[in-house]
Amino acid sequence: MNIDSIQNGFVIDHIYAGQGMKLYELLGLDELDVSIAIIKNVSSKKLGKKDIIKIDADIPVNLDIIGYVDPDATINIIKDGKLAEKKVIGMPEKLVNVIKCKNPRCITSTEQELDHVFKLTDKEHKIYRCAYCETKASK
Ligand code: ZN
Repeated sequence: MNIDSIQNGFVIDHIYAGQGMKLYELLGLDELDVSIAIIKNVSSKKLGKKDIIKIDADIPVNLDIIGYVDPDATINIIKDGKLAEKKVIGMPEKLVNVIKCKNPRCITSTEQELDHVFKLTDKEHKIYRCAYCETKASK
């Protein structure tokens, strides 16, 4: 795979160094049969060091997951070999089925069909709480 010649896909850029693998796992990219490159510890003027993920496939990507792991990451959408769109993701207000509540008494532990919903309750400190029992999400 030539990582510089993505035809249709995504480049997730400006990921804080070390978060690339976490994002890769949370996005479920390990389960996909597509060309993916993770480039770690790239020099960056803005961050010092950064990680980059390149996905050479037009797959649905859950932007909320990216925003949760790293709200400062940018996503470049490549179409026909050209940059079609560039987005800064930011912190999502709500997370649905991204992380699970760790409280064993939470209703989501017993009711398997329920969505796992977390809400951003403190933007400054990036704190998410379970929408059902208000348990703080731990990263
Ligand atoms: Zn809960």
